[in-house]
Amino acid sequence: MNWEPWTGCYKISDGCTNCYFYGPHAKRYGQNTIQKTDKFDWPVRKNTKGEYNMKGNKILATCFATDFFLPEADAWRKEAWAMIRERTDIDFLILTKRIDRFPISLPSDWGTGYDNVNIGCTVENQASADYRLPLFLSYPIKRRFIACAPLLEAMDLTPFLHGVNHVTVGGETGRDARVCDYDWVLDIRGQCVKADVTFWFKNTGSFFRHDGIVEKINPYKQTGRAKELGIDISDGKRLF
Ligand code: SF4
Repeated sequence: MNWEPWTGCYKISDGCTNCYFYGPHAKRYGQNTIQKTDKFDWPVRKNTKGEYNMKGNKILATCFATDFFLPEADAWRKEAWAMIRERTDIDFLILTKRIDRFPISLPSDWGTGYDNVNIGCTVENQASADYRLPLFLSYPIKRRFIACAPLLEAMDLTPFLHGVNHVTVGGETGRDARVCDYDWVLDIRGQCVKADVTFWFKNTGSFFRHDGIVEKINPYKQTGRAKELGIDISDGKRLF
């Protein structure tokens, strides 16, 4: 389940080049215009009986069509944090390419982090990993994971894995998607094994190189194709 408190975004790094936001979603909601949605207060909206419309005990992913840490959302983020704090019965999952803006608009009672917040730092190549991950590890966050998506090259995450719970890897989707190489995926998995960190190969991307060929894979089959390779490492807990 997703919660989109605001919409709109703009490119910040190589991983954004073929962002799906610049496709049909942008046509529908506008591009580069950052605005609150009518679902802004959705997690805390109540019915006439005073009960939350949204049931608890679930994982709620947020900001798939935007970035939680956009500067344009600095004022709204305070309210978003307050809603997250109120719904302790929901696990919020926040993925970002702008982790360097994490400390801005942080609530005064954040302390070492809220228990119900998972922050995922997205990295697509070694340069983005080397810049973003040391910052990510330096911030007070209770539950962290790394999302290598879209995976654009081989990456060494070894220096950063001691501080995270989980790594997710995924290829790029779309007509102009860049190739995802299975050797890069297996290499990151090997790093996770050594560091005792869980690992999920989320999707192959549209162009998946393995065994000397590049396989073209339909968007609806990429998750299943990744799963059938059987390389995930789980501790039995569900993150997504
Ligand atoms: S940060 Fe995310 S939503 Fe924004 S342009 Fe980049 S990939 Fe798209």
